[in-house]
Amino acid sequence: MKPVVPFIPEAHSHEREVWQQELSRSLSNLAELKPFDALSEEERLAARVAIVANPDPAHVAALPNLVWVQSLWAGVERLMSELPEEGPLIVRLADPQMAETMSEAVLAWTLYLHRDMPRYMAQQRRGVWQEHFLKTPAERTVGVLGLGNLGTASAQRLRANGFTVAGWSRSEKTIDGVRCFHGPDGLKQILGEADIVVILVPLTDQTRGLLGTDEFSSCKHGAAIINFARGPVIETGALVDGLDTGHLSHAVLDVFDEEPLPSESPLWRHEKITVLPHISAPTIISTASRLVANNLKTFLETGAVPDHVDRKRGY
Ligand code: NAP
Repeated sequence: MKPVVPFIPEAHSHEREVWQQELSRSLSNLAELKPFDALSEEERLAARVAIVANPDPAHVAALPNLVWVQSLWAGVERLMSELPEEGPLIVRLADPQMAETMSEAVLAWTLYLHRDMPRYMAQQRRGVWQEHFLKTPAERTVGVLGLGNLGTASAQRLRANGFTVAGWSRSEKTIDGVRCFHGPDGLKQILGEADIVVILVPLTDQTRGLLGTDEFSSCKHGAAIINFARGPVIETGALVDGLDTGHLSHAVLDVFDEEPLPSESPLWRHEKITVLPHISAPTIISTASRLVANNLKTFLETGAVPDHVDRKRGY
């Protein structure tokens, strides 16, 4: 008999039906996917794996024999804060397709800044016909903070498009064609070199408020910021100050302290901020479902839990 795998999506998610169908199709030979509410007492006790997306923590706690949970999201800071440390291991979504999608977004918004689009759009609104000096991509250094699944793919795509690319991570890294920095000293160095800073670190105790007044002051004059990670990685007030004084030129923000961004937030109307509604790398349901099925297959066949979050490290 096929094992039952509980499915605990975000309450009221309008995508839950699509996920349920696509996951059921991908898992069909391996397991039966069942919404939490449909589980019998016996099925709750037997469950060793659950598939979750911002689940109600009480539902996860009601599955006492879980070995691991498969998140459908790449960022797992909320799961980490809501599930007890002695709870199931947390496997986040590390989908190569998501890395492709993110690298496309990073390239798109880097080009937006590189080709001065915010400035030309502002000029159009004022009816101004004025050309500005154009640099080549090689003359533009893009600094990618975070060289994981998403950051590495983004750095490589920027490189392939001719940009000069530097990267920063916690541990030392080598990536072809990318100058790699690490640790606190490395952050200062990369900020001092980058014309465009792309943020792709996870939100952890160490990265909360990573970029504040001091760090924005360490940025090159006229640098632009792209935050595709999590809102609290930057101190918004310090960013706005940096933009208002003219030290920073523009910010593209996809993530915020509060989402959706409240309609009264001044960020919506700031002329040097481009607001995006957390769309840089949405999970692609078809590829993610296949990846989840592969993870589950390996576990059922060998007992091996896929790469999971290191609770001490925070990601
Ligand atoms: P990942 O594979 O875990 O990579 C994280 C990278 O950040 C690693 O290179 C890591 O360094 C580095 N890092 C972590 N803590 C650090 C610290 N204290 N100092 C310096 N570097 C640090 O994560 P990922 O899959 O690339 O995803 C990154 C984040 O993107 C997610 O956590 C999520 O918040 C965000 N995201 C956003 C969207 C969106 O649509 N906006 C979509 C998906 C994900 P090491 O290499 O040394 O470990």
